[in-house]
Parts: sequence; C-alpha cells; structure tokens
Amino acid sequence: MEYFNLLENQGHEQVVFCSNKEAGLKSIIAIHNTTLGPAIGGTRMWHYATTDAALKDVLRLARGMTYKAAVAGLNLGGGQAVIIGNSETGKNELLFRTFGKFIAGLGGRYITAEDVGTEMRDMEFIRMETKHVTGISKALGGSGDPAPVSAYGVYIGMKACAKEKLGNDSLEGKKVVVQGAGRVAHYLCEHLSNENADIYVTDIREDRIKRLVSFVKAVVVKPDEVYDIKGDIFAPCALGGIINDDTISRLNYKIIAGVANNQLEDEEKNGKALFEKGILYAPDYVINAGGLINVANELEGYRHDRALKRAESIYDIIIKVIEISKKMNIPTNKASNLLAEERLKNIGGIRNIYSGF
Ligand code: NAD
Repeated sequence: MEYFNLLENQGHEQVVFCSNKEAGLKSIIAIHNTTLGPAIGGTRMWHYATTDAALKDVLRLARGMTYKAAVAGLNLGGGQAVIIGNSETGKNELLFRTFGKFIAGLGGRYITAEDVGTEMRDMEFIRMETKHVTGISKALGGSGDPAPVSAYGVYIGMKACAKEKLGNDSLEGKKVVVQGAGRVAHYLCEHLSNENADIYVTDIREDRIKRLVSFVKAVVVKPDEVYDIKGDIFAPCALGGIINDDTISRLNYKIIAGVANNQLEDEEKNGKALFEKGILYAPDYVINAGGLINVANELEGYRHDRALKRAESIYDIIIKVIEISKKMNIPTNKASNLLAEERLKNIGGIRNIYSGF
C-alpha cells in the first residue's frame, strides 16, 4: 500500500520490476508521465546498496525527465530505468538483451537511452531486442555522441542569459569560467572561442586540461578557485550539487549556465538564495536539454542539422523562463517547473495515457 502512496505523491503512472536470474538482471523501469507521448529516459547502471535506494533514484530521475521533455517542447513523457549492478564488471550481451526484452514488453510506453554506467554498445545490445532505444551509433542510424548538441544548447542558452544580464547576447570579451574539461566542455569552449569569449577552465584531470588548451585559448585555474573568481558567467560542466550553502556565499558571477545535471544541492533553498543574490541561474534541465533533443531526433530518423536547429529553441525557452521569474518574482528553477506543468496541464485534456501503439 505504501508503494502506491509513493507513486501517487509524485504522480508516477507505472513501475516495472524486471528480474532474470540467468542473466543476472535486476532492474526497475519507472514511467512517470505519458501525457505528451511515450516516456523517454536513460538506463542507469549503479551498485545501489538497497532495492529501496534504486527505487527512490529511478522515481526521482523519471519525474525529472517529464519536466525536461515538457519544457523542451518535445512530444515525449518522462521515464527512467535502473539496472542494479556494477557497470565496470557486470556488463554483457545477455544482460542488456534480456533487459531489452522487458523494454519491448512495454510496447513503446518507455524508450531508453544511455545514462551513468551505460554506453552506446549497451544500447546496441538492447536494439537487438527492441526498437524503443536511442543513443545508438551513427553507423547504425542512431544519433551517436550527444555532447556536440548538448554543448550547442548550453552555448545558445548562455547567450539568452547574457541578453538579460549583460546587456546583449554577445559573449565577445565576456569572462566565462568552465568547470570541467570533459566532452561537453570541449565543444562548448569551441563555440565560446569562436565568439572571442575570455575563457577560464578547470578540471581535476591534467590530461583533460591539456587537451582543451591545445585547441582553445583558455586560462587554467585550480578546481576550487572557480568559486572565488569574479566573472560574468560560471558554467558547471562537471558534477552535480556544486551550488550549495558553502559555494553560493562565495560566488561572484552574474550568470550560472552549464550542462551538469542537478547543479543545485537543495533545489528550493539554493534556487532562492541565487535569486536573492541577483545571480541569474539557467535551470540545468532546461539549458542541458540538447542531449535529450538529440536522442529524440533519432526517433524521426536522425539528422544532425535538425537536432542543432531544434536545440536553438533553448534560447527562447530560457527567455520565457526569465520572463516568468521576473513577472512572478520567483527563482528561475521554479519558473521552469511552472512552464513544464502548464504544458502538461494544457495537453493533459487531450491524451493522458500513451498506449504506445
Ligand atoms: P565528462 O565525464 O566527459 O566530463 C566531466 C569532466 O569533469 C571530467 O573531465 C572530470 O574530470 C571533470 N571533473 C570532475 N570533478 C571535477 C571537479 N571537482 N572540478 C573540476 N572538474 C571536475 O562528462 P560530460 O559528458 O562532459 O558531461 C558533464 C556533465 O553534464 C555531467 O554531469 C553530465 O551528466 C551532464 N550532461 C551531459 C550531457 C551530454 O550530452 N554529455 C547532457 C546533459 C547533461
């Protein structure tokens, strides 16, 4: 009974426990909301300490996907899957093909993609059993690496923030501090460099930094320094939870706009603190939707140019979020939630449960 309360509290439609002893599969698929279309969301492979911890995570992530897809204007709902296991040692073809059969059984109500602990190869094993999977390689007709489109979306979203906070949307000469020199940061810095932004970058890995500064001009700073530098834009492109009580008091930026997921350690409290401090925060799930836009494009037959074009809509969405935030005097992270809920409410009258057929 308490499980139904759990689902009802956050509005989840369906949760599926998948088990197969021979394959060593223990997985949970959560479908949060299919008002706009089939639920899309990644498969996370993680060594959860308990089944309850896995359930909690999959429910949280599935709900987040509903908001992300709704705000991005996609006709997709929110879902997520988790596989309980060690992604370093526990992966094989049987595991993912068995998991793929469970996805097939949902008849298109859930479409999966890569997430923490899973990669393109795993998606290709799933593809052997079901077409309801994205993030497969370009060679097989998929969308390949989402990082270029994610980065483009962040760049475009940054420009929208600059328009509001820095007078116009040019990033020329603007001091942008990038935390993390990974896949997305790589492409983001390319755009920033083309626009002659003043780039500062950090990473805990020396090799990543070396690679980045070999192709763009950037000042390298130590990982902890990013919280104390004075700059125009801070771009978190590494980890979640880095905007918290400790860092907010140190931050001296006008804008926070980066690709990392779950940047606010405490959504309610930290979002409010940034708003009160006058720092414009581009809600992470809005500005980093390029990755989702990229895989969603795969469902229509992937075209990179179309995915990039679609990611450009992030500019107008950020402008809209800022407008709501100003009009209602609420933090931007709350404004984007309202925007998503509004879309769900408006479309909800037409279609509630996606049949998948
Ligand atoms: P990545 O693993 O390629 O890059 C992350 C980089 O951050 C690594 O180089 C890592 O060494 C560095 N890092 C880790 N801790 C750090 C610290 N304390 N200080 C400085 N650097 C640190 O990952 P990515 O694909 O570029 O994604 C970055 C983030 O964006 C992740 O949180 C990811 O979940 C999120 N995201 C990625 C995409 C995508 O398309 N790849 C889409 C949406 C969201």
